[in-house]
Amino acid sequence: MQRVFVLDKNRQPLMPCAPARVRELLRKGKAVVFRRYPFTLLLKEREGGDRQSVAFKVDPGSQQSGIALVADFQRGKRMLWAAVVEHRGQQIKAALERRRGLRRGRRSRHTRYRPARFAHRRRPEGWLPPSLLSRVENIWTWFCRLSRSCPLTAIAQELVKFDTQLLQNAEISGVEYQQGALMGYEVREYLLEKWGRQCAYCGAKAVPLQVEHMIPKSRGGSNRVSNLTLACHACNQAKGTQTAAEWGHPDLQKQAKLPLRDAAAVNATRWALYRKLQTTGLPLEIGTGGRTKFNRTQQGYPKTHWIDAACVGESGAQVYLAYPTDVLYIKAMGHGRRQRCRPDAFGFPHAHAPRAKSFAGFQTGDVVKAVIPTGKSAGVHRGRIAIRFRPSFRLNGFNVHPKYLTLLHHADGYTYTKEAVRHSPPA
Ligand SMILES: [Zn+2]
Repeated sequence: MQRVFVLDKNRQPLMPCAPARVRELLRKGKAVVFRRYPFTLLLKEREGGDRQSVAFKVDPGSQQSGIALVADFQRGKRMLWAAVVEHRGQQIKAALERRRGLRRGRRSRHTRYRPARFAHRRRPEGWLPPSLLSRVENIWTWFCRLSRSCPLTAIAQELVKFDTQLLQNAEISGVEYQQGALMGYEVREYLLEKWGRQCAYCGAKAVPLQVEHMIPKSRGGSNRVSNLTLACHACNQAKGTQTAAEWGHPDLQKQAKLPLRDAAAVNATRWALYRKLQTTGLPLEIGTGGRTKFNRTQQGYPKTHWIDAACVGESGAQVYLAYPTDVLYIKAMGHGRRQRCRPDAFGFPHAHAPRAKSFAGFQTGDVVKAVIPTGKSAGVHRGRIAIRFRPSFRLNGFNVHPKYLTLLHHADGYTYTKEAVRHSPPA
């Protein structure tokens, strides 16, 4: 089960506690609900308390990122809380492309001459496109929020897909490259990236791929990565003891000699996040994708973003996950538009954005409870509202008057759903 965040009476974070304890505290009136998402209690009396070390572990992805909080108890590591953050990179990209299209369209029309402006634009050091920057900022936001709710003492991040240092420096010959050893995962991830996740001979995709020696070991071929490629079972069998050149693929051996271009910097956003997390001053552990996968499969866990986050790095080798658990799904929604002039479909000014962002005490994105006494949509509803500048808001697809609404959670740029995860624990 997910633990619940607890603050003492001075709003300092304490160790998260079990849901049963939360119910007891609320029943006895010793605590109040401080925040809904993530669910946080505020103790009325208590001041200070024991704090063990808790690590913020993150597996950054392009669509979704996994976050796991893992405590280091005496009897072992245990996951306390997990979430999946869904990014809005695609939406940001689409909005910017639309704006750019409108501007281009206006510029190329036969109106007064207006030269294109480009020469005065400068990008600062470390600039990231807004769609990528939003991913870094989303994770950073959640690090900051969680550090206010939970005593975080360490950070672990998956930084690269595979350890190129390890691949280059370690004497690969003699190291077992088969599945099972950590080194094998690093090599496999490297080969998957290098050969485009397909059979190097016939180009078959979505089939089980085997690590294959271009010059077979029986012919004096080595175990070095430069002699390895990926082949489907059929090609591997058919090739037998021939070299790749003999089997009609002389180009592959040349290609294998070339190093994978910027293998170290696969992902600019991951490095940007790494630099940002470094500024916290907390001990920062980094792991490779190969190690994450190795840790996860060794422990028999299925693949999800939050389990990957818990398995990041050396500290992810032994992590206890309590089953079943309910993971918080967090979706980035943005904070509305800053654009004051709303253009029509042709890029001409069409409306001015309203001056106010709230109406009758509510704003778009607030999570509310609606108790509607009569009418078509009578009943109790919960959800995220979209306000209108008249007393008729939108909630879950119908109109509702603000007088029926109670605020549960202020708009904070994200929506939340809780999903119960029920897969059987590993044997
Ligand atoms: Zn093949």
